[in-house]
Amino acid sequence: MRSHVHRMQLPREIIVGSGSLDLIGSLCMDMGFTKRALIISGKRTFEVAGRRVKDILQSEGLKVDEHIISSSAPTIDDVESSENKIRLLKPQVVIGVGGGAKIDIAKVSSARQNIPFISIPTTASHDGIASPFASLKGLSKPYSVMAQSPIAVIADTKIIIESPYRFTASGCGDAIAKLTSTRDWKLAHERTNEYYAQYTASIALMSAHHIIENSHLIRPNSEEGLRVLLEALISCGIAMGIAGSSRPCSGSEHLFSHALDLIAPRPALHGEQCGIGTIMMAYLHGLDWNLVRNTLQRIGAPVTAEEIGIEPEYIVEALVKAPTIRPERYTILSEKPLTYERARELARETGVIS
Ligand SMILES: [Zn+2]
Repeated sequence: MRSHVHRMQLPREIIVGSGSLDLIGSLCMDMGFTKRALIISGKRTFEVAGRRVKDILQSEGLKVDEHIISSSAPTIDDVESSENKIRLLKPQVVIGVGGGAKIDIAKVSSARQNIPFISIPTTASHDGIASPFASLKGLSKPYSVMAQSPIAVIADTKIIIESPYRFTASGCGDAIAKLTSTRDWKLAHERTNEYYAQYTASIALMSAHHIIENSHLIRPNSEEGLRVLLEALISCGIAMGIAGSSRPCSGSEHLFSHALDLIAPRPALHGEQCGIGTIMMAYLHGLDWNLVRNTLQRIGAPVTAEEIGIEPEYIVEALVKAPTIRPERYTILSEKPLTYERARELARETGVIS
């Protein structure tokens, strides 16, 4: 019976550690990528890591081309230009080197062209580094869509630690969001009989606990803390790969962040917004929202609208509009719909606005 078939997409190799980028050559050899590779990267991230990848693979005898994405806010056009490059060059593998956006362009374009994809993140700002999902402006939806799981992930802490700390703190916000996203998932199962898998939810939830329990390690220039975060974000990607859906990792706190992306003139980083959303959604769920707030503060992640430079009015509006972003996704906001007045109270009560 079709409904009993559950398909999971997971990476085959995950390498985390200082200097792990140097393993790209042997990794490609082991996987049979011996002829031709295409690197998709940004201008700066190509210099930070892409060029090294190219040199190593060329010394292994591969033909290597790069496609540099120059726009800072990538769109569907960048995916299409990448697809054209793939069609033209016919690489055996696409290697995404860069921050979240460049990884997502590589992920989507390679998936559309049926070419395997290797993820080499240069920041740890959100959980897309090992997941099969991608979000890009110009796709039909304001939230992430299914693309494909990376066949391998290389997270070189020596490179990522050089990225601005703001990205790392943001990644912690995306990981801690699993406290409420998993609650929303369970709630949806109870109320609407939506498919729910406790095992998968536990993996996602563990990521949030991993950050909370080790938050004292997470600070600028801490390799140990960065490793904790990467473990958490990779587990989130695995949870989504197992679920075949972003459900375990994306609940009401994500709907709030997606709404802010649409409403605010200058949205903040995805993980920053999700972290603040988690404080408020934890309150609605009756969870220990102070623990979320204190953990984010200890890490150095923003916990107020002011810290992310967003006017209180947009926070309130995003809370009210959040459930309309994805009406089919049942969350605590479906259970307890917020009026403008109640949204303002919630944001004030949790210290997000004053
Ligand atoms: Zn996220």
